[in-house]
Amino acid sequence: TVTDGAGLIEQEQRHLAHNYHPLPVVISSADGAWVTDVDGRRYLDCLAAYSAVNFGHRHPVIIDAAVRQLGRVTLTSRAFHTDQLGPFADRLAALCRKEMVLPMNTGAEAVESGIKVARKWGHDVRGIAEPEIIVAGGNFHGRTITVISFSDDPEARTGFGPYTPGFTVVPYGDADAVAAAITERTVAILVEPIQGEAGVIIPPADYLPRLRELCDRNRMLLICDEIQSGLGRTGATFASDHVGVVPDLYLLGKALGGGVVPVSAVVGDAEVLGVLQPGQHGSTFGGNPLAAAVGSAVVGLLETGEFQQRAAELGVRLHDRLRALIGSGVTAVRCAGLWAGIDIDPAIGTGRQLGERLLARGVLVKDTHGSTIRIAPPLVITEAELDFAVDQLAGALAE
Ligand code: PLP
Repeated sequence: TVTDGAGLIEQEQRHLAHNYHPLPVVISSADGAWVTDVDGRRYLDCLAAYSAVNFGHRHPVIIDAAVRQLGRVTLTSRAFHTDQLGPFADRLAALCRKEMVLPMNTGAEAVESGIKVARKWGHDVRGIAEPEIIVAGGNFHGRTITVISFSDDPEARTGFGPYTPGFTVVPYGDADAVAAAITERTVAILVEPIQGEAGVIIPPADYLPRLRELCDRNRMLLICDEIQSGLGRTGATFASDHVGVVPDLYLLGKALGGGVVPVSAVVGDAEVLGVLQPGQHGSTFGGNPLAAAVGSAVVGLLETGEFQQRAAELGVRLHDRLRALIGSGVTAVRCAGLWAGIDIDPAIGTGRQLGERLLARGVLVKDTHGSTIRIAPPLVITEAELDFAVDQLAGALAE
């Protein structure tokens, strides 16, 4: 068996589909905000698995819940009830101030499921035969055929047609454009409250409130994809909390699985999720007892408010320190809690090159869209560790 770093990378290159371009580091263990590679070198994780590790690697409360459940029952399918699923749904619904949960596994499945629910609601409640959904330009909602059908990123979309119809794309952050795109067949607006993959793009403060109004006035559903922005990342439970908006459907994923198992969900009230009847939707693994036990532990951590508060407080420091780099290799910075999009001056190098320089300096980040890097550390990161990350970024920019 291959155990050395170079050999393991070569093995992946040979035997895995080339749909990713990872940084050249081979991780073999992790704890909190840190990961360790096969040679024993430690790195500060400033990606946190695209926000799926919000609570840090192997948070003891989450690992405890998982281990306890591993010793009892892990999978039954939804053909039967378990003692884990009801309590998880009850707790998650309360966190969202909603009534019902539709448990799935990955983020893309939650998005697909949200779209199915909105279409069914359009059919059943509004009597629309061919419902339409308005989405935003620059969106990232996952990789399935329907989801990439309404992407405007050629890399994500080109060559994967034919595409799913029924979506209208309008510019992100532009509520007037949404208003102009509404027809009598529009049943929902699907947006990220802050766009993650696009580079942490924060819309105008009145954008979501205006979408909420448009939905109320035109009897449409507001669907917020909080898969990356939610569950503490921005300094609140949900990014939409910052502007006082409650969507009809929350799409959740990533951190809901505590960095242990894939757990996603669509959360909403009975008048919306209640349109689904037995046999109309499902998932073999969705809501399995291991996922439910882990998900309950995650909701328990969020109920304390500690992580949201940490993200808010440390986020102020992160923002201040990053802003100071504008003009020194950074052209723009966008921050929301412990989440930052940093545009790199092309004269300094690409986002990828910056990522490689930071890797050599013991900090893991990933570039997005060429010249942007994203910082999204586990929310358990300390102030000193955050300072270390920004110091290394400043050093990498000056190289
Ligand atoms: N929605 C948003 C906002 C995301 O950021 C992502 C993943 O990056 C997804 C959906 C898809 O999640 P998954 O990769 O678990 O399918």
